Parts: sequence; structure tokens; C-alpha cells
Amino acid sequence: MEDCEVAIIGAGICGLAMGLALHKKGIKSVIMERSESLRNVTGAAIGIRPNGWRALDQLGVAENLRHTAVRLRRERVISLDGGKQKDISLTPWDGETRCLRRKDLIDTLYAALPLGTVKFGRQLESITSGSHSTKHVLRFIDGSSIMAKVVIGCDGGKSIIANFLSLKPTKTFPLCAVRGLTNYPNGHSYNHEFARFTKDNVIVGRIPIDDNLVYWFCLQRRDENVWEDPEVIRQSTLELLSNYPQEIREMIEETEMKSLSVTHMRYRAPWDLLMGTFCKGTVTVAGDAMHIMGPFLGQGGSAGLEDVVVLARTMSQLGLNNGESRSKVMTHGVEEAFNRFVKQRRMRVVRLSLQTYIIGMLWGTSSILKKILYIMLLILLFPYQHSHTDYDCGYL
Ligand SMILES: Cc1cc2nc3c(=O)[nH]c(=O)nc-3n(C[C@H](O)[C@H](O)[C@H](O)COP(=O)(O)OP(=O)(O)OC[C@H]3O[C@@H](n4cnc5c(N)ncnc54)[C@H](O)[C@@H]3O)c2cc1C
Repeated sequence: MEDCEVAIIGAGICGLAMGLALHKKGIKSVIMERSESLRNVTGAAIGIRPNGWRALDQLGVAENLRHTAVRLRRERVISLDGGKQKDISLTPWDGETRCLRRKDLIDTLYAALPLGTVKFGRQLESITSGSHSTKHVLRFIDGSSIMAKVVIGCDGGKSIIANFLSLKPTKTFPLCAVRGLTNYPNGHSYNHEFARFTKDNVIVGRIPIDDNLVYWFCLQRRDENVWEDPEVIRQSTLELLSNYPQEIREMIEETEMKSLSVTHMRYRAPWDLLMGTFCKGTVTVAGDAMHIMGPFLGQGGSAGLEDVVVLARTMSQLGLNNGESRSKVMTHGVEEAFNRFVKQRRMRVVRLSLQTYIIGMLWGTSSILKKILYIMLLILLFPYQHSHTDYDCGYL
């Protein structure tokens, strides 16, 4: 059976960033990913707010990524029902907001890792820990297994590691999101702004990535199973938006088919985050595996990047990179590092999750009474609705 010091499960944004952060701190890890290759297409693009850029700066990949996407200058919310419009300018004092192609982010993180860090085609089936052993046995679907001293679950919203930690199952909002990229070979005419159009309980977002490429999403109420065929996704979205302005419908008609996807939105309940046990011995979780949340603030990915910086820093502060060789992690102390990590992250992710939960409930309900209640809660609990972007995860 193979042996390793630190195993990270999942090579999404969080798992790749985790491998990179640990590498920068002299801690060697392997990343086990179920897909046969990098999952760099799903989800099309991702908005990164100032807090996410701070984490990317710490990981040393921000500068390259800045060249891949324009800086957004404004947010605009346009109600097509009543014609109301709200503008929020994003000044240099507000920090940096850009929308990255997921491919650029994933590829950049992957390229910064030592060669061979990610093992593809390794789908974790189970994890067991002997009562006297300091190691965990990871079994994979292909029949192989490895022993790891430390396990970090970055395996997303249906995490096997979260189950091992006995975390409550994640839940679903009665909402889903269609996402896509549209390329304008001769350039588009949109301002560098995040525009959000609302009509009949449907929200369409449009964000330029550069002067040719535009990311869009469409949030809608939907409980039943979602479709997978890109042509069906496109046609259903066009039907839903039949009374939307022509330029929006054209954007969707011209979308790159391979970029189209539809996601039913999941979340870990804020009260489960408040009470959950996020580490057990030398096993912990990060990213969506820990705190999957609705995308209404565009913070899930950035919160995962923050986790990574905090976890790698905490491990390094406890001297876990100072074994006989720089690749050896001392087991004693890992538990303490994980406890500190969870302590530092808990209230941050509870607040993000609570804010997104209330927004999700607000959009998902048709009851006027409930809507009023959720709006009041948001005003009361989150008077500065963008203050979550001020968060600084600190130095790596
Ligand atoms: C519609 C929508 C819009 C969003 N917009 C934004 C945004 O603008 N900004 C933002 O910051 N966030 C956004 N998010 C959230 C963001 O996409 C996620 O928080 C982020 O991608 C989570 O990354 P992760 O690496 O933790 O998990 P994932 O991306 O889910 O990656 C998990 C990885 O683990 C692998 N894996 C799973 N199970 C196993 C297993 N058993 N064995 C081995 N490998 C496994 C998977 O294949 C995958 O590669 C959005 C989410 C949605 C749904």
C-alpha cells in the first residue's frame, strides 16, 4: 500500500490552492482527484472580490491572473419589471473585483504546483482510521488504497471526508443556475461592469471577462431535476427569457456550447456550520466540503482560498514543516493546527453562509410576508451588504 504524509482529496479550486499553499510552506502533499483530467471547464467563470484577491496574492498567482480579466468599475441592478436601476461604483478604494475564466484560475494553480502533485482518476470511496494507528486508510473506487498521516477534504459539496467527520448532509435551495460564456470575435460593447437584470423572479447576470468574452448566469426557481444536454439548457433558458431584451437573448443564443452548465444550488446550513465538528484528529475539510453556500454573494470560491491560506499558515506556525526532512509532517501538532484553523474560520464562514442563506430564501419564496421578514433580517444583520469583501485572511 502506498504511503503519504498529507493527502488532499479533490483538485478543484480549493484542493489545488491547498496543495500550492502547503508547498509554499515546505509541506509536501498529494492531491487525489476523481476526474481523469483537470476539471477546468465546469462553471464557466468565477467572480473574485477583494478578499479573494488578497488570498491569491498570498499564493503568488494573482499577478498572472490579473492579466486575464478586466477590472470591474461598477455594479448595476436593473429591474425589468419596474424599470428601476441601482448603481454601485467600484472605486479603487473598494478594492479589486474581476471575473476570471475558471479555466484560467484552475490552470494557473495547477501550473504552480510541483509536477506530479495531482493524481487523476483516483475517486475516493472511503476513509478509515484505526483506533491505535496515527494513519488513515484511503480506499479508491479502482480498488487501490493509500495510507496518509494527514487528510484534507477539498472534495466539494458531497464530500466523503465531511461524512467521515459526521457533518450533517448539505441541503438544496429551490433554485438553480445556468452559466455560460459568450465570445464576441469583434468585441462586445458592454461596459466593465457587473450588470444584473431581474424580471419575473428570474435574475440574469452579465460580466465581461475581457473585451471579447462575457460570462453570464441565469438564476431561476426550480425544484425538479435539472437538464444536462447543452442544447436543452440553452433552449430552456431562451424560453424562460422570452420577454427579456434582445441583446440578452442574443448573448445566450451565441453562447459557447461547451461552457454551458446548470447547477442545483446546495448549502450547508449556517447553524450546522456553527455547531459542526470540522476536524477529527488529523482529518479536516476546507472549501465547499466545509461550507458550500449559495452563490448570491459570489464568495464560495474566495472563502475556500481564504481557508487555504489560514490552514497552511497554521500548520507552518506549529512547525509542521520542520521534520527530519522538509517533506515530513509531524503528526503531533497537526490536531492542534486543525483546531486553530477551524477556530479562525468558523465565524467567518457562518456569517457568509447566513447572509447567502437569507438571500437564497428571499429569492426562493413567493410569500410576500416571508420576503418582508428576510429583507428585515438582512438589513438588521448585514447593514453593510458588501462588508464581507473587506476580510483579510492575512499572510501565508
Ligand atoms: C452558480 C454558481 C456561481 C458561483 N459563483 C461564484 C463566484 O462568482 N465567486 C466565488 O468565489 N464562488 C462562486 N461559486 C462557488 C464556487 O464555485 C465554489 O465555492 C468553488 O468552486 C468550490 O471549490 P472546491 O474546490 O471547494 O470544490 P469543487 O469545485 O466542488 O471541487 C471538488 C473537487 O473534488 C473532486 N472530488 C469530489 N469527490 C471526490 C472523491 N470522492 N474523490 C476524489 N475527488 C473528488 C471533484 O471532482 C472536484 O474536482 C459559485 C457557485 C455556483 C454554483
